[in-house]
Amino acid sequence: MKKPMVNTINADVMPRSDYGQVLKAILKEGLCPFCEKNLFRHHSKPILIKTKHWLVTENAWPYEGTKHHFVFIVRHHIEGAEHLTPLMWADLGAAFKKLIKKTKISGGSFVMRNGKMEYTGASVRHLHAQLIVGVQRSKQTEPLKALIGYKRKK
Ligand SMILES: [Zn+2]
Repeated sequence: MKKPMVNTINADVMPRSDYGQVLKAILKEGLCPFCEKNLFRHHSKPILIKTKHWLVTENAWPYEGTKHHFVFIVRHHIEGAEHLTPLMWADLGAAFKKLIKKTKISGGSFVMRNGKMEYTGASVRHLHAQLIVGVQRSKQTEPLKALIGYKRKK
């Protein structure tokens, strides 16, 4: 059996508007939502940066409370970071630099989940990284939540 391209359970752990429903539709189609030829079937945000190996766009379903939530999508169907070539890693760095220059973001967290989605909380199998940006800490703020994996319940 073909591996499903998305994981709807992880999306349900941190619900975001209609994201769960969209993932169920993607699951039914059986197409990878992050492969370039399929990307705009469900993704509504423009491509901000395009390099030889990466596309950078905003997450159409950002984590709650984020000011920005960018997604870096590798332009080949690769499922594990260990399969990226040194050139692809270097190009990711170049895309990151371009985004920071373009957006002038003061701080954020750059995250890449890798491996089995049951371990990471990822909802799309196709390798991607994220830049998650909140607001400046103050007395009126609380921590941003991002799903990066699971721990045992106490
Ligand atoms: Zn893909």
